[in-house]
Amino acid sequence: MTEIRDLLLSRIRDVADYPQPGVMFKDITPLLADPAAFTALTDALAGIAGQSGATKVIGLEARGFILGAPVAVRAGLGFVPVRKAGKLPGATLSQAYELEYGSAEIEVHAEDLGGEDRVLIVDDVLATGGTAEASIQLVRRAGAEVAGLAVLMELGFLGGRARLEPALAGAPLEAL
Ligand code: AMP
Repeated sequence: MTEIRDLLLSRIRDVADYPQPGVMFKDITPLLADPAAFTALTDALAGIAGQSGATKVIGLEARGFILGAPVAVRAGLGFVPVRKAGKLPGATLSQAYELEYGSAEIEVHAEDLGGEDRVLIVDDVLATGGTAEASIQLVRRAGAEVAGLAVLMELGFLGGRARLEPALAGAPLEAL
């Protein structure tokens, strides 16, 4: 596991002051461009999906799509995109949440999740946890169960894990 962790970390580029001053952006494009690293990441996340008993994988726009879709295929599960508001053509469930400045809204197609589903939510970076928290609320409102949240990276100093504890209600949060 340490080997995989070192490989993944070596392929993440820190970009200072992007997209705004004071933010250290975690750029995963070098990891995606390296087939060994991308495969190792996909396999690790698919293992988590298998263990979680998930029936579906949710990917959070946009980098959660890139990571979540191959995980769903590898684990033999369905993939469900959670998108920024206004991008999905069918009947949606929407969830608004607060950002540091202003607010945002995410959506899922209502017909993609149901009472029989257990959902693993996948994203690249867990920062404040606002996006993940809103996606957990969407899953519950669709009548589905949260099997867990799996991310490549957790920015621990932002306190996302503590914030998500009540929403996760015992479901695991795995950060590779
Ligand atoms: P948050 O809702 O604060 O947990 O932010 C999580 C979302 O924003 C994820 O979809 C990440 O892709 C993105 N994000 C937040 N902070 C960073 C960062 N420092 N580097 C890269 N992506 C980030």
